Amino acid sequence: MRRIIAGAGLGLIMAAGTAAAQTFATDNPMLKRIWALGMDSSRTYEISQTLFDSIGPRLTGSPGYKAAADWLIAQYQKWGIQARAEQYGTWRGWRRGTAHIDLVAPRVRTLEATMLAWSPGTGGKTVRGDVIQLPDLADSVAFRAWLPSAKNKFVAISFPEPSCRPDSEWATTALPASWSQFRDARAAARTAWQQRVTKAAFNARNLQLALDSAGAAGILTSTWTTGWGTDRIFNTWSQRAPVMDLSCEDYGLVSRLAEHHQGPVVQLVAESQNLGDVPAFNVVAEIPGTELSNEYVMLSAHFDSWDGGSGTTDNGTGTVTMVEAMRILMLAYPSPRRTILVGHWASEENGLDGSKAFVADHPDIVSHLQALFNQDNGTGRVVNLSASGYPDAAGSLARWLAQVPSEITRNITFGFTGMPAGGGTDHASFDCAGAAGFGLGSLNWDYFLYTWHTTRDTFDKIVFDDLKSNAVLTAMLVYLASEDRQPVSHEKRTVFPERGGFGPGGPQATAWPTCVAPPRNMSDYLQEVLQREAQQRQQQSQPPRRPQN
Ligand SMILES: [Zn+2]
Repeated sequence: MRRIIAGAGLGLIMAAGTAAAQTFATDNPMLKRIWALGMDSSRTYEISQTLFDSIGPRLTGSPGYKAAADWLIAQYQKWGIQARAEQYGTWRGWRRGTAHIDLVAPRVRTLEATMLAWSPGTGGKTVRGDVIQLPDLADSVAFRAWLPSAKNKFVAISFPEPSCRPDSEWATTALPASWSQFRDARAAARTAWQQRVTKAAFNARNLQLALDSAGAAGILTSTWTTGWGTDRIFNTWSQRAPVMDLSCEDYGLVSRLAEHHQGPVVQLVAESQNLGDVPAFNVVAEIPGTELSNEYVMLSAHFDSWDGGSGTTDNGTGTVTMVEAMRILMLAYPSPRRTILVGHWASEENGLDGSKAFVADHPDIVSHLQALFNQDNGTGRVVNLSASGYPDAAGSLARWLAQVPSEITRNITFGFTGMPAGGGTDHASFDCAGAAGFGLGSLNWDYFLYTWHTTRDTFDKIVFDDLKSNAVLTAMLVYLASEDRQPVSHEKRTVFPERGGFGPGGPQATAWPTCVAPPRNMSDYLQEVLQREAQQRQQQSQPPRRPQN
């Protein structure tokens, strides 16, 4: 019985596939070929499995980033596509090793934990120490007086969440009065904890540096996403004390033990290697144009990732979309009218650095760019596309989209004119230069709750049907943009301040954005961080505005 049902199901799926293939809005044989290559002989699974399982995350400056780039360049060359590493500066080299932390008193438990990027290790030793919480002190003077008592201790500096259940569960299951009372109490406690950090050392970065200099054995943090069992993992600037993120549950456990004087002791063994300055580079590949070789159509996605998971949906799936689109284009359209370039950007996570550097270093390409398509918000099928604030470019996009099969476009909301990206991801680096950079905005699939910069950003989260569809869409748009007799207009819309906000491609501009020079090395970057902090300090020191009637 089961076998018969399965057989019937498969037949239905295949029939649906055949029927679907006949609803093309065009008879263009090139589009049919792109569809067939992308849908019937997709390589997205094997590319993804190698990149995310075997090579893993791609933290800028890490050996993982270099290994992934070497693999990608070799892969392109195997397909007959010219590919190269383009160095634009240097970055901090750091290798993640194993890390393991256990609660050893008042009872034994292996803690669920991840070392932060750039964290020092324990130098081959097992380090044991009491856990204490950051105390609530009057001000930075009191904090400095207290600091010597952090020596040889593990200091817990994040807010201990009272519940690690997602709010969605509280909202649907708790008695309404319990939920509202819980929410109010938690909000007050979170604000109080934030003030504890601000009073002591202004922010978590400075707090970690102070504890590091004071000889803390280690620093414990927890950056819970508010979803079940998921934390975000970023970097630390600590030079000597290892910094470990604990899961919401385990961080709460050690914090409560410390708060109730129950003598928590942990032991940590962590390995990592500071590799000094290493090259920072993008990977660029190209299919040369045959008629207009000095005009360009680009596809792009940032290649770097955070390294708490394997960087699969941020931005492995964007990367695979572009790699697969290039593979399809090389087979279907190896002699394009305009030159096709793919950009796999480094250091997007630190401020779009790789794409900013490409724009700064290649004015020739940027000023002859027909269009750039960038994708960077997860595995979902593309559902949003706008003309990024170029009113007349909307006509070009609309003409191209009209030729893409409705199986793909029926889900896309097209934003006529739209707004230039004001940051968030790499097409912003092009929009600010007046080049037509378009963001392919994806369906969310719980991106911000579970996979964005998290420990759960792993291979299994890929939705292959959506990924295949995105690669086919990108290849088709690139082909159509390359062939178009009409150059895309770069005339800008007027940007009204009240129109900003958060759009499909990230934050949107409130004035036409201006390009900012990228940091080319760690001292440039530190300068950027310090400048941002100085601005924040200034904002905080201003007296609150009186409410206006
Ligand atoms: Zn990203």
